[in-house]
Amino acid sequence: MKTIIEPFRIKSVEPIYFNTKEERTSILEEAFYNPFLIHSKDVLIDLLTDSGTSAMSSNQWAGIMQGDESYAGSPSFFRFEKSVRDITGLPFIIPTHQGRASEKILFSILGGKGKYFLSNTFFDTTRANIEFSGAEGIDCLCKEGKLPTVAAPFKGNLDLAMLEEQILKYGAANIPLVLVTVTNNSGGGQPVSMENVKGVRSICDKYNIPLFIDACRFAENSYFVKLREKGYADKTVRQIAEELFSYADGCTMSAKKDAFANIGGFLAMRDEKLALDCRNLLVITEGFPTYGGLAGRDLEAIAIGLNEVLDENYLQYRIRSIEYLTQKLVAAGVPVMQPAGGHAVYLDAKGFLPHIPVDQYPGQALVGALYVEGGIRGVEIGSLMFGKYDETGKLVPAALELVRLAIPRRVYTQSHIDYVAEVIIEVFENRNNIKGMSILEEAPLLRHFTVKMKMLD
Ligand SMILES: *Cc1c(COP(=O)(O)O)cnc(C)c1O
Repeated sequence: MKTIIEPFRIKSVEPIYFNTKEERTSILEEAFYNPFLIHSKDVLIDLLTDSGTSAMSSNQWAGIMQGDESYAGSPSFFRFEKSVRDITGLPFIIPTHQGRASEKILFSILGGKGKYFLSNTFFDTTRANIEFSGAEGIDCLCKEGKLPTVAAPFKGNLDLAMLEEQILKYGAANIPLVLVTVTNNSGGGQPVSMENVKGVRSICDKYNIPLFIDACRFAENSYFVKLREKGYADKTVRQIAEELFSYADGCTMSAKKDAFANIGGFLAMRDEKLALDCRNLLVITEGFPTYGGLAGRDLEAIAIGLNEVLDENYLQYRIRSIEYLTQKLVAAGVPVMQPAGGHAVYLDAKGFLPHIPVDQYPGQALVGALYVEGGIRGVEIGSLMFGKYDETGKLVPAALELVRLAIPRRVYTQSHIDYVAEVIIEVFENRNNIKGMSILEEAPLLRHFTVKMKMLD
């Protein structure tokens, strides 16, 4: 088997600005050990997120020039709507400026006190929007999904028995929808099998609860189904995606992920009354229903990107580059989430830094060490992002302490990835020098974005 090459040539490049370890040490200190507070020009390899960081294609840039900026009824909207409808089969399609705007609209209408939402794992903005409405979100992730080093093909699956238990516990009437996140971003970018989605569908049918998909990485998930699930090897990824959406009553989407756009999202559904309510809220928050907070040019970029992302040569390169980095780290003994997920490599910070207790945020400590050693920016997905406090003010830690290194789409080459592996292995060899962290200042919701921290002695 020959090397799987990047399935593109590079037409336009952006410089990387190099700095020294000493400079990065003081930059990190000035940013209060929060990677979101570091300026991007001070970062060598930016793996903070794969969101909105994709390289657009020459076709997408050509689409940008075709964008029609009419306030109402722009042809760009109709091209966007057709792309979304062709893949999802959902009749009502509402553009938004990004995924969380879709969530805000949906959960403002369906949420509120006394309501419960169930999922494999709610992404952070999703959970925040649910909680902000007064409702509660409950994760029903399968057991193997919580074991970072146990290899299983579909670690994003819901635990169907737990799902049904929770429905009985809270009452179907209080559960406005079940949300399946594909792939499971916060749980390691792990895929959900078609069989599991069908299982969720039949439980939802039994209790008459709508099923929605958080579709941010629908193409990566569909490619995993093709590779790993019996009966799908001969189907195209587009056919698999169409089947996935056929089980859904609706979806939320961030076009900043599997649509190669730098901004955008949408909300889509089958229920006409719900769509009407959503559009009414859209008009006062995002904009008129044929642009929803986006420029016509953004709608064009999304329309084109949604089709490009289903290209199987691209998906093969995409999934392989994540697996390539994962395998290099596993070979060096670095504890990583296995198998490789779809968009990111997840370091297991508990295994990496066993000498740092969870209430000293080992994930955040590791994020800092990777930045200082090699200018790599990742993000903690652990107790800083998802931890809660009990009545006595004691930290209730998250299930996992992970550091996510998200790989932007079509941006970095194999030598960048080789460099990332070298830096991580270097940090791993010197892991005993890494110290724990404490919080100086934090916000009540999504605290990881603005938190200020210090390093303990
Ligand atoms: C990114 C993401 C969102 C939110 O989308 P934004 O465009 O960042 O607002 C929701 N769910 C998942 C799974 C995501 O990865």
